[in-house]
Amino acid sequence: MYIKSIVIDGFKSYGQRTEINGFDPLFNAITGLNGTGKSNILDSICFVLGISNLTHVRANNLQDLIFKNGQSGVQKASVSIKFDNRNPAQCPPGYENTDEITITRQIALGGKNKYMVNGINVTPKKVQDFFCSIQLNVNNPHFLIMQGRITKVLNMKPQEVLSMVEEAAGTKMYEIKRQQTQKL
Ligand code: ATP
Ligand code: MG
Repeated sequence: MYIKSIVIDGFKSYGQRTEINGFDPLFNAITGLNGTGKSNILDSICFVLGISNLTHVRANNLQDLIFKNGQSGVQKASVSIKFDNRNPAQCPPGYENTDEITITRQIALGGKNKYMVNGINVTPKKVQDFFCSIQLNVNNPHFLIMQGRITKVLNMKPQEVLSMVEEAAGTKMYEIKRQQTQKL
């Protein structure tokens, strides 16, 4: 699976609907002058993936993610990512018959949060499980490459290394579900 296009509307510096196309399945680079919204595109992807630590997308609260903090008439921030799902080897369970999967996240002033899969409203949990099943966990500390990462991994305890491998292999969600079942 890879990103085919991203539609950003009302998110950070993207006050007007902007569609970004032409992604390569393996490698992409975003270029442009300073302050023109390159990092905001990456932030918009993390937003759809459900980032929980907003400081990683350079915001203090969800309202900071709305164009001009909602002070300019734009009251919603919405980002849609369209994935190419034609590779059966990487297809998430339950999506075998669809060539494209579009995941949308929208927030409105006042904090109303909405997720959609192919235009149909779904729970945040459904989207979380979807990304987990394709090993895309934005909240895994190893997802974003940050300064000091190598030293952190070297200093990890065995249990933490196991947790990281489980996260990367996509089996973490089953482990969490097993623990939840045991608690019942
Ligand atoms: P650089 O090359 O310096 O890394 P960049 O292309 O990555 O720049 P971004 O960080 O994506 O630039 O964009 C920064 C711009 O986004 C700033 O001008 C900032 O004011 C603007 N911005 C951030 N949040 C909002 C918001 N909620 N509403 C409007 N503009 C915003
Ligand atoms: Mg930048």
